[in-house]
Amino acid sequence: LSTWSAVPAGPPDPILGITEAFKADKDSRRINLGVGAYRDEDGKPYVLNAVKKAEEKITAAKLDKEYLPITGLSGFTSNAAKLAYGADSVPRNQNAIAVTQTISGTGALRIGGTFLARHYPHSKTIYVPTPTWGNHIPLFKDSGLEVKFYRYFDKKTVGLDFEGLKEDLQNAPEGAIVLLHACAHNPTGVDPTQSQWKDISDIVAEKKLFPFFDMAYQGFASGSTDRDAFAVRYFVSQGHQIALSQSFAKNMGLYGERVGAFSLTTASEEERKRVDSQLKIIVRPMYSNPPLHGAHIANTILSDPELYQEWEGEVKGMADRIINMRERLYQLLSNDFRTPGEWSHVKSQIGMFSFTGLNKEQCKVLAEKAHIYMTMDGRISMAGLNGRNIEYFAKSVDAAVR
Ligand code: PLP
Repeated sequence: LSTWSAVPAGPPDPILGITEAFKADKDSRRINLGVGAYRDEDGKPYVLNAVKKAEEKITAAKLDKEYLPITGLSGFTSNAAKLAYGADSVPRNQNAIAVTQTISGTGALRIGGTFLARHYPHSKTIYVPTPTWGNHIPLFKDSGLEVKFYRYFDKKTVGLDFEGLKEDLQNAPEGAIVLLHACAHNPTGVDPTQSQWKDISDIVAEKKLFPFFDMAYQGFASGSTDRDAFAVRYFVSQGHQIALSQSFAKNMGLYGERVGAFSLTTASEEERKRVDSQLKIIVRPMYSNPPLHGAHIANTILSDPELYQEWEGEVKGMADRIINMRERLYQLLSNDFRTPGEWSHVKSQIGMFSFTGLNKEQCKVLAEKAHIYMTMDGRISMAGLNGRNIEYFAKSVDAAVR
């Protein structure tokens, strides 16, 4: 008998399943709208010019391959914090932000979850929005936190359920942790407005909740890294202490390089040092220290003014292409095809994803009849659409809902 004969088969990953079905489909019209990675106008993966140039500089510098420190490349962590919190951030200027380089955004959330489970004194419960990025739930559970939910998405309006959100946060136990998507909410594409963020900040203060921001898409939502950091910077300006996960997967297209950062704002440099020491104690027995190459790429871009400018332009280019696709899809559905239903949410949603409002049956029909693949909750990656396939997509949606 094998040692592993009693190991049960786990369920397949829903997103990877879509990619497999897509690959098996040989129809020339097939479209994959499941993946959360940017695609260019030709439907191809996109390596940013700023990244290519940074890699050339790194190669020319003939750097060694020594280990990084436990918390990563110090230039990178410092520049990542500057990008998120802003150059004039008070805790940053007080040397009071503890930052560690992480295995992209997922690793940042996991280090953060573990730190909170170990050291956050008031609660072991984290509230996440319904719906949220699917991985948040097992990730925080595996970190040792209990996961609960607050209302976020209103199926009827295909928009934010702001009343439900406020009520649920107001009714959360004092001191609970609350996970907030900083911008470009995944999977819905629905973000609070700036004025709604201010109300959320007031409730968080009143109920003494602890805000943990997941910022996986800085720059990707609006095209401006500053504008997309609004919620994070506003909360800090209001005196909240926050936890923050950052990813450079989307905004630098560094998906497989796994570049991210986790940070906590603290009250002083002395406190920051104590927190830093505990972050090291979490990282060291888990993976010792983070990988080198991706951090060098991101740091080269963030610290070279010319590359930084080129990168900002490319982030805006990616965001604008997605915004154009939203506009075009809206026009096709509501004007050209007069598709039954209200489609303005396609335009008002933000970031990589759109919750179309298509139901499971309609998604199935799209896959089986039209070779169009998406998650069964009706989420599409806007980045999978382009000038060549968007009309076919809209026509197929039109047929599926009639
Ligand atoms: N958080 C959210 C909301 C995401 O959508 C993603 C990626 O899809 C991540 C975190 C983590 O991504 P990565 O680990 O590739 O940085």
